[in-house]
Amino acid sequence: MSPNNYSDARQAVINGEVNLIDIVRSFLTAIKDLEHLNIYVEVYEEEALERARLLQTQYEQNPSSIGALWGMVISIKDVICYKNHIVTAGSRMLTNFESQITATPVQRALDAGAIIIGRTNCDEFAMGSTNETSVYGPTYNGVDPTRVPGGSSGGAAVAVQMNTCHLSMGSDTGGSVRQPAAYCGVIGIKPTYGRISRYGLIAYASSFDQIGLIGHGIEDLALFLSTVSGMDPKDSTSFDLPVNLSKVQQNQKKYKIAGFKEVFDDSNLNPHVKAGCDLTISRLRALGHEYNTVSFDLLPYLVPTYYVLTTAEASSNLSRYDGIRYGYSSKDSSDIKSLYFKTRSEGFGIEVKRRLMMGTFVLSVGYFDAYFTKAQQVRQMIKNRIDSILEEYDMILLPTTTDIAPFIGSLSKDPIQMYLSDVFTVLANICGLPAISIPVKDDHPSHTMPLGIQLIGRELAEEDLLSLSHQLL
Ligand code: GLN
Repeated sequence: MSPNNYSDARQAVINGEVNLIDIVRSFLTAIKDLEHLNIYVEVYEEEALERARLLQTQYEQNPSSIGALWGMVISIKDVICYKNHIVTAGSRMLTNFESQITATPVQRALDAGAIIIGRTNCDEFAMGSTNETSVYGPTYNGVDPTRVPGGSSGGAAVAVQMNTCHLSMGSDTGGSVRQPAAYCGVIGIKPTYGRISRYGLIAYASSFDQIGLIGHGIEDLALFLSTVSGMDPKDSTSFDLPVNLSKVQQNQKKYKIAGFKEVFDDSNLNPHVKAGCDLTISRLRALGHEYNTVSFDLLPYLVPTYYVLTTAEASSNLSRYDGIRYGYSSKDSSDIKSLYFKTRSEGFGIEVKRRLMMGTFVLSVGYFDAYFTKAQQVRQMIKNRIDSILEEYDMILLPTTTDIAPFIGSLSKDPIQMYLSDVFTVLANICGLPAISIPVKDDHPSHTMPLGIQLIGRELAEEDLLSLSHQLL
């Protein structure tokens, strides 16, 4: 059995203890054995083996020619385009749709020697918190399959949790990488808005969307981020400041961290979550970092702001699925109007439709100012408040989730409860800030499900988030 994290696996291959083909084979076996968890919607078995052979030969012929991610086995969420491969966003709407392009971070990973093993299940168009809205059915949490893995990158989180790849690429619009990482006991990072190109990521809410990563170890995530981040002329919101790996490795800084009074003083805070937070706070202090609570009274506005703005953006982004240009097209329509109507009625699932209707409503002439404009103003207020906290503090500490992973079916019946459960993760996307979720385990005997703690950093402070996480793990 080869090591789970990439850095160790690479060393083992270089030492001649194992080769890349065996590594890919063992992942493929794990994927087969775990089919009941519904992690992957497609596995690139032959292709991954062929690439492993090629990369192994390349190394044997010229060891100095290998790239930074040589032999790293990654999976990609079913919203990330990979040319000549199917991408469906977990939706009937994109049945059998073949990507015409490769997403920039995927291309950069391939150029650096990565191997793509398959595409993972997710909520339809990345809308959801439980991975239950996918047309392929739910993904199950590997620790307890009666529970959800979280969403929308649930497949990506279980893919790492159950050792079917070294690292998973997901997307995070409001927590979709951090929340499932927390529910599954792995690490999830959402970079600063613009730090990784969004070219080739199927859009949900463009001013919130980011490619995010799920992995076993900080070294792997830092290495991957430094390789794929940076300017991309195909995404005008990207910029030329890739993550600096050496800054993560040499960092011994002591940080000032803020927690929100409204969260940590709340007597209703779930005991499991509270125990994880208390433990992290005492670890931070023991490591010589400073921790204080500050007031953040805008907390109740996070979820409404997020859902007004993301549904509005989604209703615009998803208007392109009209039965003419992309994917699914209803067969029994009589004219153009009924083609649109039937295609969208049949092609989209219930959660996507709910959001498109909400988004269309908040953008409609009579309500635009009352909802959309207002939410934009509140977004700016939230950002200003957070920026002023981050002038004094290096980072903000929050739980990643309000609870441990819920049982399958328990949240999906109640969308409002599901939306409210995103309260701690949407903040980073509202503000465009980087955030990481790392697993935390207290020794209470009944706390058997994984839990995550979240650090939110200043813009472009991924290196600080990664190094502090490294100290805490
Ligand atoms: N749960 C959130 C939503 O449904 C976040 C989704 C995401 O980050 N893609 O919008």
